[in-house]
Amino acid sequence: MKQTRIEKDVVVIGGGLAGFAAAVSAARHGAQTILIQDRPVLGGNASSEIRVTPHGAGLHHNYATETGLMAEAAAAERSRCHIEPMENAWTNSQWDLALYDICKRTPNLTLQMNTSLTDVILEDGTRGSTLDPEDSKVSQDAGYMERSAINPSRRISRIECSVANAETQITVVGKQYIDCTGDGLCAHLAGCSWRWGSEASDEFDEIHAPSRPDALTMGSSIQFYCHDAGKPVPYEAPPWAKKLNDPDFFYGGTGRIPYTPRGGFWWIEIGVPYNTIFDNEPIREELTEWTLGIWDWMKNKDEKMREKCANYVLDWVGQVPGKRESRRIMGKYFINENELKLDRAFEDEIAYGGWFIDLHTPGGLLAENAEPGAATGYDSHNIEAAKGHVGPYGIPLGILQSRDIDNLGMAGRDVSATKAALGSIRVMQTCGLLGQAIGTAAAVALREGRDLTDLSTGQVREVQDHLRRDGVFLPNVNREAEGDLVPDATLSASSEALLATTSVELEPSKQCDGRPFEQPSDLAQCIPVAGPRLDAIRLCLSSSREGPIEVPVVLRHVKSIWHYDQVDGEVLAEGTLTVEPGQAQWVRWDLGMELPETLHDGGYVRLELMMTAPGELWWERVSRPALACPAYYLLPCADPNKRGERYRRIFNEGMESYGFAVEPAMPVFRAENVRRSANRPYRDAGMWRSDPAEPLPQYLECRWSEPKTLRQIELQFGGDLSNELCRNAPLSRDREVVADYEILLETKDGWEVVDSVRANCQHHRFHQLAEPAETSAVRIRVTGTNGSESASISNLRIFSELGDYPDPWGM
Ligand SMILES: Cc1cc2nc3c(=O)[nH]c(=O)nc-3n(C[C@H](O)[C@H](O)[C@H](O)COP(=O)(O)OP(=O)(O)OC[C@H]3O[C@@H](n4cnc5c(N)ncnc54)[C@H](O)[C@@H]3O)c2cc1C
Repeated sequence: MKQTRIEKDVVVIGGGLAGFAAAVSAARHGAQTILIQDRPVLGGNASSEIRVTPHGAGLHHNYATETGLMAEAAAAERSRCHIEPMENAWTNSQWDLALYDICKRTPNLTLQMNTSLTDVILEDGTRGSTLDPEDSKVSQDAGYMERSAINPSRRISRIECSVANAETQITVVGKQYIDCTGDGLCAHLAGCSWRWGSEASDEFDEIHAPSRPDALTMGSSIQFYCHDAGKPVPYEAPPWAKKLNDPDFFYGGTGRIPYTPRGGFWWIEIGVPYNTIFDNEPIREELTEWTLGIWDWMKNKDEKMREKCANYVLDWVGQVPGKRESRRIMGKYFINENELKLDRAFEDEIAYGGWFIDLHTPGGLLAENAEPGAATGYDSHNIEAAKGHVGPYGIPLGILQSRDIDNLGMAGRDVSATKAALGSIRVMQTCGLLGQAIGTAAAVALREGRDLTDLSTGQVREVQDHLRRDGVFLPNVNREAEGDLVPDATLSASSEALLATTSVELEPSKQCDGRPFEQPSDLAQCIPVAGPRLDAIRLCLSSSREGPIEVPVVLRHVKSIWHYDQVDGEVLAEGTLTVEPGQAQWVRWDLGMELPETLHDGGYVRLELMMTAPGELWWERVSRPALACPAYYLLPCADPNKRGERYRRIFNEGMESYGFAVEPAMPVFRAENVRRSANRPYRDAGMWRSDPAEPLPQYLECRWSEPKTLRQIELQFGGDLSNELCRNAPLSRDREVVADYEILLETKDGWEVVDSVRANCQHHRFHQLAEPAETSAVRIRVTGTNGSESASISNLRIFSELGDYPDPWGM
């Protein structure tokens, strides 16, 4: 065997989305970094070898789509890939390549593919593989499986890796290590403490914890993908495929419905009685038998699918099981489900989540049903589905910092969380945010000569500032970045859009698509407001009843667009509207009210419509996105005082707004918004938008009373974060992102263009000036968008110093 040695500052092990993001962000912030990935492609479960859709908070919460590195990868992939978004199996190698491309564009980053971590050596010379070779220290005394810390030293000195097909072993020496292996192998070998299985409900009083602890896990899956061959294609299953003949196995309320002939079913899953780590091979073998058996059922036997599948042919069957659950490494903090539900503001918040508490039934295909929520089709009135909704909630750095090894962090599904909390945190866009956070933390630690588990409060704030400057949204961190010159400037624009109706360009009568749809519950529409008065709101309503319907309405002050609670939130007005028979009529609610002072600079109110006549009454939906106006269903609280029952809502289904109009028109898209903290609609509309009636070019101007020396200008284009970016159409760009623009500085001779960009599709861009420039004003002049009629920018930050790295998309 050839022996080699590599020395780096930061060593990231595992190239899933967590590891990818950790490595790129550590390297961007100046750490010499190596990413060690045991397979030939990046992306882990999201790679084209496994093809799980990277989800996150954005599927369940309007405008909660992940930005930062996750948006960077999604924008790059969507603009190049011809594959339509679909649930699992949509991924092709364009996604792997988008991740690879970002890594290759990153200075300081070495990619070491096809390379497996095999051993960890601690600073006292102990080899991890000798610490607990028989797993004899693993105990099930607590009910779940756990291992207490057995590390004789608190630091890792080096790791050993083996390169597949190269007869090579590498010793990798680092200063900081980040375990993104999913299974927590690096931490395990380093002797760290971990848990496996479920806590009992009495340990943290979690709704989703069972009454007795157990050592069960969710299973692993393989995906398959089919395409339409344009003519009937027969399928004959091999003799070793499972023989499935019982329709009840699929349609008997088990949550295993074959919903498309294209394949990609998350429920082809097997775990218990197998061990998801040690039995990976038997699991793969058995999953392959099941997959072909399921395809045989759909193609040849299923009354509901046979015809639909006639022209479909198997294209690809995964052979790398995607793992959902195994070890959870104990960190400096151990987060539980209730902290997700309570929307706790952690001092060391570095990411957020918002997927539901998604816990599958252990056993998968071998169990009675796949998942309680899925077994009822995620029916929003089903208690299992309703109780699972959480977020968006903040995530603390402490769950990424090892409790037992000082120079070790983790990101991904191996973080320090109860099983129930992990049910939400484990989705991949969230894992990617965690990776970006711990990679940034490692770089900051290195610069300060500390370990990544030993950051001071000030250094954690530095990590938060970097993350926000890198485009990441942190719900509870809203201070200005150190050195940002924009807070001292006056902001103005060539024009500013007003919010008058949900559609800014159409006549009211044309705004409604007129199609009735099932509105089973009370409806809520968040409306951004600004200014002293709200005189009236009009709602676009339809009624099929012969006589008038009386509909109660409530106007509530909400602290953010994700304030779903129906108990808190000051009621500003209550009333009753009379809806006459007819379609798409504008019903007026005269309010003539002064808005609370806290809303004068911008904020949100929520208009609640009580569905007194479901089936006969509906609120028209706007058929094209209306920015910053999220809508959702309000489902009744069974008991508002009971934890987990304060609000209910369902998936946002891509719907954005109900038809409404406000009087007077609201100046919610002011230039002033770009210095506010959030990079999206959240506590206010969160962006500058130019008046859509005014043609491009349009500009945003930032002016100081005294000249300033500038070196770096950072822009966040809000984009349309109302749905997940990976669901955008193939070969598409976010229409709300600015495509063409120039940066101009005011000089004594007038405006001088110092940089210009064409055909941008990225949400986050920044510009480094070759030399420091002295000026009293900067303009961002937008000459083209990717489809929107308005120019829009959600954040502008300007600094006198260069940032840590050049714009990767400017190279
Ligand atoms: C079928 C299925 C459906 C799911 N559904 C969704 C969904 O719809 N959306 C969603 O977002 N999430 C979903 N999840 C969950 C999600 O995929 C995982 O929680 C997530 O991938 C965890 O991210 P990670 O980076 O920690 O791990 P992974 O994605 O597993 O990445 C770990 C990486 O580490 C590498 N690695 C492991 N061991 C070593 C080693 N010794 N040396 C070097 N490299 C190593 C692996 O090859 C892998 O690339 C699903 C999971 C499965 C299996």
